[in-house]
Formats: sequence, C-alpha cells, structure tokens
Amino acid sequence: MTSRQPFDLDAYVERATKGPCFICEMISGNPAFAHPIVAEDEETVTFLSKYPTLPGYCLVCPKAHVEDLAEGMSEAAYLGLQRKVHRLARALKQVFAAERIYVLSLGSQAANSHLHFHVVPLPAGVPLAQQQYHALMAEHGVLTIPDAEKAEMARTIAAALAALEDK
Ligand SMILES: [Zn+2]
Repeated sequence: MTSRQPFDLDAYVERATKGPCFICEMISGNPAFAHPIVAEDEETVTFLSKYPTLPGYCLVCPKAHVEDLAEGMSEAAYLGLQRKVHRLARALKQVFAAERIYVLSLGSQAANSHLHFHVVPLPAGVPLAQQQYHALMAEHGVLTIPDAEKAEMARTIAAALAALEDK
C-alpha cells in the first residue's frame, strides 16, 4: 500500500472555509472540483475522496445541497441514501478484503456543509492503535494515489457494485 504523506491541514481548512461547496461544484461539472465518480443516480453521488487515508475511501452524498441530516431530508430520502451506503459497503468489503467498513457523517457549517457520508474500508491487519479515528484522520497523513490509479479504483468499485445481487 502507498504510504501516507504529510497533509497540509491549514491549506485545506483555508480552501474548505473560503471556497464554494466542493460537492455542488463537482456535481455541476466544474473541472477544478472533479473527483473519480463511483456511482451516480438522480438523488445521490458516490465518489472517491480527494484526500484518502485508506485505499477505497469513498464519500456518498445527496445531490441536493442538504446540510441538516435531521431536518433537511425526509425519512424516505435518508433511508434511500443509506441503502446506497450499505451496497457500497458490500462492494468495498469485497474489493479491499476489508476487515470493517467505517461509516461517518461529518462536515461543519463552517466548512464542507453539504451532507456527506464517509464510507471507508479498513484493511485487515491494521494495528488497533492505528484503526478507527487514527485511520481516518488526515492529520496522520494522506495517500497520494496517482489519478490513473484512482480512476481504475473507481471503476473496480463500480463493477463490484454493479455485480451485487439484492440482499
Ligand atoms: Zn453543496
């Protein structure tokens, strides 16, 4: 696996707090905010993180600029999104032989306010002290995966998703 490289958190926070919504920009096709897309339909988009701490680090988002999980989505819309999270988890488990699949909804009103779920495969064999938040925090470094490799990774996950049967 590619080793983690130091991450410039200050520059990232500067972009995230001052820039436009990166998810809305990506959805509108702004090339400056392009990410490798894994899956997309009318309501939801799934893509690879730009700053992955583990291979296969995905984000799943409603396409609409929803900020409030509790009040910004109906129960039906939320459950529809979570169905996609679960399917993605099944695909990631297969592709990365993951020991666990982490799922978190993060974001802030001050930065990255567009509702998004982190769905991340933890490979087998990571020492306990390096699992969980440690495994997810960019403060501990991010993987610099070449674009072609990321595109291939997105295609592989997409193919695994497409091959899943209903459960
Ligand atoms: Zn947005």
